[in-house]
Amino acid sequence: MAALEIAEPEKLDDAYTMLGTEEGSIRPMGGGTALMLMMKAQLFKPSKLVSLRKIEALTGFSLSVDASHIRIGAMTTFSELEQSPMIAQHLPVVTQTMKTLANVRVRNVATVGGNLAHGDPHLDLPPVWSALGASVRIVGVDGERVVPAEELFLGYYETVLAQGELIADISVPVRPGWRFFYAKVTTRAEHDWPALGLCVGVRAEGEVIADVSLVLSAAVDKPTRLKSAEAALRGVALSDAALAMAADAALAEVHIEGDGRGSAAYKQQLLRVHLGRAIKHVMQGSASA
Ligand SMILES: Cc1cc2nc3c(=O)[nH]c(=O)nc-3n(C[C@H](O)[C@H](O)[C@H](O)COP(=O)(O)OP(=O)(O)OC[C@H]3O[C@@H](n4cnc5c(N)ncnc54)[C@H](O)[C@@H]3O)c2cc1C
Repeated sequence: MAALEIAEPEKLDDAYTMLGTEEGSIRPMGGGTALMLMMKAQLFKPSKLVSLRKIEALTGFSLSVDASHIRIGAMTTFSELEQSPMIAQHLPVVTQTMKTLANVRVRNVATVGGNLAHGDPHLDLPPVWSALGASVRIVGVDGERVVPAEELFLGYYETVLAQGELIADISVPVRPGWRFFYAKVTTRAEHDWPALGLCVGVRAEGEVIADVSLVLSAAVDKPTRLKSAEAALRGVALSDAALAMAADAALAEVHIEGDGRGSAAYKQQLLRVHLGRAIKHVMQGSASA
């Protein structure tokens, strides 16, 4: 069996050099929880892992808020997010999502950056970041670029990140008047991987849905904005008929895929039911962000 080398650089430049720019068997490591699962299943056999935990430029900063944005460092752990009063105040949907995400052992080490870079469409947070309108700052040997969270994902385990590029942080705009809710629909235990994930954001004016943000995951190959369903709901008063039209629009615009947690037909039915329920839930003001 080939030996696995684990490097712990302290500077970003050293990490870039170790990672190189050629696709291969060298990967960055955040918490290592997803990497370890893939290695145990023999889906990935790295020759070298480059741990990011000693890089001051990535770990020196965790959470901050100003008048326009909430900024979250890539090496922030899920437990830090879960326990942050600032996140609970400004992004309660993130605190809500943490309650059923994996278990405390995973949350203590899994990082925001590793979760985004993994590109598994079953992950709970990526649809939340997308619905919130977050943007991701990516750094690399050629400088940095900022990508909207919803444009980060290309498909199953595929992102726009090039070899050697690292997620540095994520920035979420402050959006007064919006309320968000993440519906995690599981078919076994509530902490299990979702059969369907749906993040719903609404800006309500009385009974009217003035603006809406809908991002579907787990039933599709990447977190996917439901643009037609959003258009069907924008400016419309909440009613069962409007919700049924939005569900029809959502089902027409995405290709729902089945997996071990439900067939495609079952997940289509889940989408129809939970889209309506989640929108009613946020319109009633029971969730906010
Ligand atoms: C038992 C168990 C249960 C789980 N249940 C759930 C669940 O219910 N819901 C859910 O959403 N998730 C769940 N997870 C998944 C968990 O959320 C992910 O494993 C975790 O988010 C990955 O973060 P990490 O920091 O450990 O990533 P790592 O394993 O370190 O890395 C994952 C990928 O990202 C790359 N990477 C890491 N950091 C960066 C960076 N800063 N920049 C660029 N690339 C980077 C790595 O090279 C690798 O390709 C579960 C995991 C386990 C082990």
